[in-house]
Amino acid sequence: MNLGFTPEQEMLRDSVIRFASRECSEELFRKMDEEAYYPHELYSKLAELGFLGIPLPMEYGGSGLGCVSSVIFQEELSKRLLPLQMTFQVSILSAGMAILQLGTPAQKDRFLRPLAEGKINFAIAFTEPGAGSDAASISLAADPANDGYRLNGQKIFISAADISDYMIVSTRTDRKVPKRAGITAFIVDSKSPGLTIRKISKLGVKANAYCGVFFDDVCVPAENILNGLNQGWAVVTHSLELDRIGAAARWVGLAQEALDYAIDYARNRSQFGRKIGSFEWTRDLFAEMQTKVDAARLLTYRAACLMDERKPCRKEASMAKLFASELVVDLSRKMMQVLGGYSYAMEYHSQRYLRDCLFATIGAGTSQIQKLIIANEMRL
Ligand SMILES: Cc1cc2nc3c(=O)[nH]c(=O)nc-3n(C[C@H](O)[C@H](O)[C@H](O)COP(=O)(O)OP(=O)(O)OC[C@H]3O[C@@H](n4cnc5c(N)ncnc54)[C@H](O)[C@@H]3O)c2cc1C
Repeated sequence: MNLGFTPEQEMLRDSVIRFASRECSEELFRKMDEEAYYPHELYSKLAELGFLGIPLPMEYGGSGLGCVSSVIFQEELSKRLLPLQMTFQVSILSAGMAILQLGTPAQKDRFLRPLAEGKINFAIAFTEPGAGSDAASISLAADPANDGYRLNGQKIFISAADISDYMIVSTRTDRKVPKRAGITAFIVDSKSPGLTIRKISKLGVKANAYCGVFFDDVCVPAENILNGLNQGWAVVTHSLELDRIGAAARWVGLAQEALDYAIDYARNRSQFGRKIGSFEWTRDLFAEMQTKVDAARLLTYRAACLMDERKPCRKEASMAKLFASELVVDLSRKMMQVLGGYSYAMEYHSQRYLRDCLFATIGAGTSQIQKLIIANEMRL
């Protein structure tokens, strides 16, 4: 396993950093949070610069650069443009890679190039009001009708459903078999008659909405089944490792950003005639937190390297996600203390970092579920 970066990967990191500092002004940074403004135009620019195609093969307009490069991109993008990283994760990594690995030739031809070109977005609709961590217990029904299926039921907490053109939806197609054996995944047009999307007001990352999605006799042609009838569990689970590595990269990026912001503040703020960054407790805190961010980063790149080497990385992906997500919440909370009373003012970013990261330990599998996976992999 090689944990060093190639010159191309170093260049990739530099170009994402340059992109984010050039395109994300302080005004836009605030607007995304205060007005829940989603910068569509920047997502198109990411496509033009070839970033969206990083994990996709060249034949579909991508560059096939693999997981480590994806992680570099996501880590740097998350610092200033977290809402775009979240779209990249669901649209390209979860949906795109599922279509690439499990789709029919016609589905690949139809969806992959437009995804890499940023012309379409996908959402991933698995969670239901009664099926969260236990994702196999879904009840949204897909029943045969004419030459396709009719979908009835509800999904909840679906990221970026409001800006999606399509969504991959897990449905129940057989109620008589064990629950994982009766699931079918469909590619559903988000503008289908009978499909309603409602944004749910939330605490952080406001520019990237999460939504309730309601299906009332939504007709989907049989050709939109992904991976075959009653083979949907493989779709639900196929990109879990990739998702977890991507989530870990996101939280490493945000943790570093929140830490750097507080360090900058502590270097400039004086009390009792001293910079507060010179107090023993702040030096101790910053040293400890930077060590933990580096540890989270190493766990993340280890998992990404294993994935690029096509080696098993279930345990390592869960470890990276668990460690990075718990860390970013702890770190963001502690950085509030460094800023004192200013941390609580909306004008300062510390409160936003904390709000943005509070779902880290829930989305892409909760911390408890990550520990369960790690313990199982350890044969405990
Ligand atoms: C911001 C955000 C974006 C999201 N985006 C999407 C999306 O795009 N698509 C999508 O399909 N879903 C999405 N989700 C949903 C997310 O995947 C679920 O919230 C998550 O899987 C947890 O499910 P739940 O909320 O129903 O909690 P539950 O499963 O009800 O869990 C509640 C608590 O019980 C614990 N728990 C559950 N089972 C066990 C167990 N076996 N052992 C120990 N503890 C357990 C959990 O760890 C948690 O602490 C999103 C969620 C958030 C917050």
